Amino acid sequence: MSEKTSEKKKTRTPMPEQPPEVRAGNFDEVALGYSKEDAIAEASRCLNCKEPKCVEGCPVNVDIPGFIKLICEEDFEGAIEKIKATNALPAICGRVCPQESQCEALCVLGKKSEPVAIGRLERFCADYEREKGVSAPGVPGSDIVEPTGRTVAVVGSGPAGLTAAADLAKLGHKVTIFESLHKTGGVLSYGIPEFRLPKEIVKQEVEYIKQLGVEIKPNYIIGRIKTLDQLCKEFDAVFLGTGAGLPRFMGIEGENLNGVYSANEFLTRVNLMKAYDPNYDTVVRRGKHVVVVGGGNVAMDSARSALRLGAEEVSVVYRRGEEEMPARREEIKHAKEEGVSLKLLANPTRILGDDKFNVKGIECIKMELGEPDASGRRSPVPMEGSEFIIDADVVIIAIGTSPNPIIFKGSEGLEQNRRGTVVAEDETGATSKCGVFAGGDVVTGAATVISAMGAGKKAAKAIDEYLKEK
Ligand code: FAD
Ligand code: SF4
Repeated sequence: MSEKTSEKKKTRTPMPEQPPEVRAGNFDEVALGYSKEDAIAEASRCLNCKEPKCVEGCPVNVDIPGFIKLICEEDFEGAIEKIKATNALPAICGRVCPQESQCEALCVLGKKSEPVAIGRLERFCADYEREKGVSAPGVPGSDIVEPTGRTVAVVGSGPAGLTAAADLAKLGHKVTIFESLHKTGGVLSYGIPEFRLPKEIVKQEVEYIKQLGVEIKPNYIIGRIKTLDQLCKEFDAVFLGTGAGLPRFMGIEGENLNGVYSANEFLTRVNLMKAYDPNYDTVVRRGKHVVVVGGGNVAMDSARSALRLGAEEVSVVYRRGEEEMPARREEIKHAKEEGVSLKLLANPTRILGDDKFNVKGIECIKMELGEPDASGRRSPVPMEGSEFIIDADVVIIAIGTSPNPIIFKGSEGLEQNRRGTVVAEDETGATSKCGVFAGGDVVTGAATVISAMGAGKKAAKAIDEYLKEK
């Protein structure tokens, strides 16, 4: 390899983006996507390792070297076909997977320079397919086997449910998805904002799953309209992918003041109910000084949405340091570029209100990092007497979620653990209730899109085996 070539291989092909000062005022997608030339340039950085490690880092084992090679050969249709062989939602994964801790973390190039931008390349292929209207062979229709006559109910239409449904339909089973909301997609629709994941993309990926023959019943809450026990009688097997949509609060003074939101409620109003669009009547408090509590993707999405709704100042309060923040690196970078300020090593102690019970500020205490906890991260310890106040008229709590308990109503024998998650086997998703499988956030607690998809895939395989034996 010449010196010039090896130098070129060190840095990634930059992703075209809306400039920070422009995008902070709109809800359009921030990252604009690679052109054909960008994609080929980035794909040609791949070293074609004999024993590639990146595939091991992908929870659904996308054939990464295989699709990258096809991009180099300008066979983009072949590339998307290869990706779709194991990943039903590539346009989504390419945009929101935490690649830095998954596939890209294991890319050999990353040891000395920047890893190949696998996610961006995956997104390119999926966007190419959508924009060109080419449908990868093996997609709807052609790879569906003879109907088996078996029926499966899938509860929840997030990434876990959609993936399980797609795989089961491809195996010839008749699948019905029950979704409590009026829109499909789970967090992809109600949580992750338009500027990171345009809803048109989610809609099209859901459309693909419908074309596989999957029936979707929206506005259908299992545990209320029908129970799990009833589903077990009506279907040969059930998959639970109900996610973790119940927000957690801190239990501090002032959390019931006007202007305090859970991130779930705030983001649902903004995304699902389109509060940012003047054509919609959805009410959301547009604060001038917004404080978001938490350090994950949910906190970043809330902060950046508040900014786009017109806030003058948005602060993220997080009890550890920036290195420890669980959000994707790219989201932290984008948030900072847009003007979100990080108040690190700080933890709220109470929320302050005025005489009309409106939020007027939040009191925090400074933290220092002590010994590592069970997760290996150093535990934050409060520094006595270091309290300080941040002015705020809106406070958004984004400190985590648990599974919604409604699914357990009328579900005899479904075991749950102390955290409220469903107990299920790692490899199969089998639960304590015969014929019921589960995967995604309802089992792991809040995690990632791709891990939910991985669980949906494993469960689909196990359900197929269960149905064959039944
Ligand atoms: P969900 O996506 O939560 O879907 C569950 C579905 O089940 C929902 O549609 C719900 O309405 C439905 N449901 C629940 N109960 C019932 C019932 N009783 N009857 C019928 N339907 C029911 N992950 C990433 O990898 N990258 C990111 O950048 C990222 N950003 C995120 C940003 C936000 C704001 C949030 C909230 C999460 C983010 N995540 C991200 C996490 C990721 O979205 C989740 O881990 C993933 O969506 C979990 O998938 P799931 O299918 O298990 O559940
Ligand atoms: Fe990487 Fe996610 Fe694509 Fe797998 S699905 S290759 S983890 S971006």
